[in-house]
Amino acid sequence: MTTHRDDAGPLTGPDDDLGGDPVCWLDRVCPDCGSFLTDRTAGTCPRCGAARDR
Ligand SMILES: [Zn+2]
Repeated sequence: MTTHRDDAGPLTGPDDDLGGDPVCWLDRVCPDCGSFLTDRTAGTCPRCGAARDR
C-alpha cells in the first residue's frame, strides 16, 4: 500500500524582497503546521487554528 501524505509544506519564505533576516519571518510561521501567516496580528492560525502568543 502506498500512503504518501504531503500535508506539511516545506518551510520556505516568500520570494519577496523583504530586506531582512530570515528570523523575521520565522516569527510569522505557525510552529504547529508550519503555515506562513500573512496576518501577524491574528491570534490564531487560520490553517490549523493553533493559538499564537505573539
Ligand atoms: Zn497552524
